[in-house]
Amino acid sequence: MHSCRENRSFLSAGIVLVSLAVWSGALSRPAGAVEAGAVSTSRSTPPAAPCEAVAVDVTGAAPDEKALICRAAQRSVEFFRRCKLKSSGRIRIEVVAGALDVCGVDVFGSYDASTETVRIVNLKRCTAMAGEVAEYRAPPVEQFYGSIVAHEAAHYVFRKLTRDHSYSHATHEYVAYAAQIDSMPPAVRKNFLKSISRPLPSDLSHFVDIVLMLAPARFGAMAYDHFSAPGNGCRMLRGLVAGTIEFPSIDEVD
Ligand SMILES: [Zn+2]
Repeated sequence: MHSCRENRSFLSAGIVLVSLAVWSGALSRPAGAVEAGAVSTSRSTPPAAPCEAVAVDVTGAAPDEKALICRAAQRSVEFFRRCKLKSSGRIRIEVVAGALDVCGVDVFGSYDASTETVRIVNLKRCTAMAGEVAEYRAPPVEQFYGSIVAHEAAHYVFRKLTRDHSYSHATHEYVAYAAQIDSMPPAVRKNFLKSISRPLPSDLSHFVDIVLMLAPARFGAMAYDHFSAPGNGCRMLRGLVAGTIEFPSIDEVD
């Protein structure tokens, strides 16, 4: 289980994370979700709007955001389906008004495993936040926004598929980043990857928590490089689900 203190250290290294997954219920509901008050009743239980083509319910989204979210979540579900891995249940995606705070850190999106809920900032806030980071400015903001949804939705699907395994944070992020970058249209993806300098990952030794912590965008690009290399992809996903592939833990790396 990871604590908020560990999450904070990501940011003390001066890094903006694309997202923070929340493991093993380490995060409680954000303050305000259960606040009593004149306006909180309707805000705490906004109506869920189902997506048409995928088992996803969205709350708090403007119509243009909802369309982007549904399409992106569908691409994420298809990322697994291509490897004959099926998503179960319905994905709950909440668009939060204002900042999305995970343990005192402003993030684009998060997945709360304890409530199986994806949370993302709205498009306007995403635009402002992405504008501050060169790599995240590379894709058009709608594409970047969708890719965050794909990332967090992948956490949901992968967690469900691997509930019997206890994998490192880096393992979960490898899959989520692969799904995120895979969800981008080819030309957008090419541009995004071009904006990130990195070595070509020859094996899984790169995918450990410390590398993720120090340079998440670089970790993400390398995860996609590795995942999309010939012979990997479905072999990796299916092997992780079956429990036949294991990523190195930090003490196994020199
Ligand atoms: Zn993540």
